[in-house]
Parts: sequence; C-alpha cells; structure tokens
Amino acid sequence: MTHSRFAAPSPAPHSPAGSALARYARAEPGFEARLAATQALLRQAADSGPAVQASSLGAEDMVLTDLINRLRLPIGIFVLDTGLLHPQTLALLQRLSEQQAAQAHAPLTIYRPRQEAVVAFVAREGDEAMRRSVALRKACCALRKLEPLERALHGQAAWVTGLRREQSEARSEVPPIDTSERARHGRLKFNPLADWSWGDVWHYIRRHGVAYNPLHDQHMPSIGCAPCTRAITAGEPFRAGRWWWEDDAAKECGLHVKPPIGEHP
Ligand code: SF4
Repeated sequence: MTHSRFAAPSPAPHSPAGSALARYARAEPGFEARLAATQALLRQAADSGPAVQASSLGAEDMVLTDLINRLRLPIGIFVLDTGLLHPQTLALLQRLSEQQAAQAHAPLTIYRPRQEAVVAFVAREGDEAMRRSVALRKACCALRKLEPLERALHGQAAWVTGLRREQSEARSEVPPIDTSERARHGRLKFNPLADWSWGDVWHYIRRHGVAYNPLHDQHMPSIGCAPCTRAITAGEPFRAGRWWWEDDAAKECGLHVKPPIGEHP
C-alpha cells in the first residue's frame, strides 16, 4: 500500500476552499464495501465483551465515534489528555464530551497522567526534555500516555483504534483484528479503518457532517501534543509532523508498538 503524502489542494464541492475537506474528501472505488466491513468489525468488537475506543480526536477517530453512535454500540470512548494538547484539541474534546453525555451506550472518559509523576519529570528534565533524546521523549510519552492507557484498557476485552495502513511504514501491515495482546492481556485490538484511505476518511466526514479538529485545516494530518506536532508541506509523509526531529523509525509513542504495553522502558 502507498503511504499517504500531503496532497496539493483540489477543492471538493460544498467545502470551504483550503479546508481539509476540500483537500482530501474523495469518493473512491470500493468505499461502500470498506464501510460495511468497518461496521461489521465494530459490531464484532462490541460483541467481544467490554470494549472501548481509544480516541486521539483525530479525523479517523471522529469517524469511528460517529459510527459507534449511529450503530448504537456499547463501546465506551476514552481520550488521553496528556496535559499538553492544543487548545483546538481541547475545544473538540469539550464538544465531544457534551455530545457523548447524551449517548448512554458510549460514555466518554478522559484519562490524565499522574500529576506527581509529571511534576517530578519536568522538575528533573525540564519542559523541553522530549527534544534532547529519543529516550527522554519516550519517557515523556510513557508517563503522559502509556500509563494512563494501561488504566483505560484495564478489564477491557477489546479496544478499537483508528490505525490505517497507509499512515506510515510502521503501520503498513496493521491487521483488522490484532490478536497479539490476547495471551498477555486477554483482549483484542480492532483496527476497523486499517484499509481506508485518507480520502475515505474525509469522504465519510463530509457525508455525515462529522466534527473535526480545525488543526487538520492547518496542514496537520496527524495531531498529537502541541510541542510534538507541526504542520507539514506538500509531498511530506503523513506523520512527518510528529516528532520531526527524530528518525522515522522512532516515530511511535508506544501506544501501538510491540511488545505490548507494560513492557516499554
Ligand atoms: S507526544 Fe511529546 S509532549 Fe506528548 S507525551 Fe509524547 S513526548 Fe510528551
């Protein structure tokens, strides 16, 4: 599969010029079949036992939450608020929290890092520690993301993510159902958008009027913490704006790399 590269603007009908919708939304062949397969995977996740969606509030995750709501599936939503999210992301989180409060089948829970661990890390290493070494960046991700993630996934039989194969080389073999966590943690990881294109994601968002992070309009296809996300330019890889000072091979925060969580240094 070809990995996403930042596309040159090509306005789509009924979308504000220059918006992410205008740039990316495409009705591509096979979309309806991919959508049907995604709906079937979400139903299977819900049938697996207690299930949650891990939402970064990115475009893919907003699509999945919309599908969970439309299908009225008992899949809770959780968001990791690292304490360093963009104001635009926090505003979307507030909006989504209010929306999900009216959805009894899919409550939204926010997980935050343990404050004492964050305070100790920043006191020891400083605010810009993540830029000094990959090890320090991963240490920051471990305390702000991985530890809260472990709490969020505790007791769950399934979790749902918005991973897509074309997002990066590291994700090029993402399966629709990942069983690698079953033996150790007793749960399945569902990736219902694994074979969706970036055009598919925005086609769905346009079709259903799904709310999305306005940072996507500012050339940020992949959005993380504010200090670790920048806009990208035409031709750059999809995740070039994440930890851009590191080699590509290091560009995962640990949420979606093996060995399973809990084994990271
Ligand atoms: S993305 Fe950056 S700021 Fe956020 S947890 Fe990881 S290193 Fe820390």
